[in-house]
Amino acid sequence: MVPATMHAARIGPNAIIQTIAALREVYAPEELPKLLAGGAEVYLSELPHEMIPEEQFHALVELLTPRLGGERAGEILFRSGERTADYVRANRIPGPFQTLVGMLPAPLGLRLLLLAISKHAWTFAGSGKFSFHLGRTPWLSIGKPVDRDTTAIAAVLCRYYCGAFTQLLRRVVNPRITLRETACQAQGGAACVYQIVL
Ligand SMILES: [Zn+2]
Repeated sequence: MVPATMHAARIGPNAIIQTIAALREVYAPEELPKLLAGGAEVYLSELPHEMIPEEQFHALVELLTPRLGGERAGEILFRSGERTADYVRANRIPGPFQTLVGMLPAPLGLRLLLLAISKHAWTFAGSGKFSFHLGRTPWLSIGKPVDRDTTAIAAVLCRYYCGAFTQLLRRVVNPRITLRETACQAQGGAACVYQIVL
């Protein structure tokens, strides 16, 4: 029999590492233990450094959302996404590839980057499906995770992915890129769909 943990979708530890870092940017050190009490205070002394079950990230967002309020939690997670993208760019995407992508016309650079990202999509999307479409109105999307009902935190998770992709596309492809969301899990959609405006 396969252990249950084998089925849990895993994601990179940055989802948690950068969320804690984003909190530290905004909150004083003495405020953090209270914000993270009830299961996440451990991250103040020990951050994950290997792949984590996606549920662990979702649990952190579930803990934070009612305490911060949806809007502030969304801002923190958007920043966490930006920080995750910065980490990925600095450590996971080869410099020469970034130079090449940046030199190409934006639609072509976008194509190369999205193809490269999609090979590693599971490291950030977990059980949610990552897809993208190129052409006249390009878009990318992240589907609902299947591990648990994330309805209550869907809007906040959406901000995380929006921050990560906005930052990555701007820094690697073109600084003028914006993402315009055309469907959202938080509004009952099956996925968050972000139109990429070049
Ligand atoms: Zn969304």
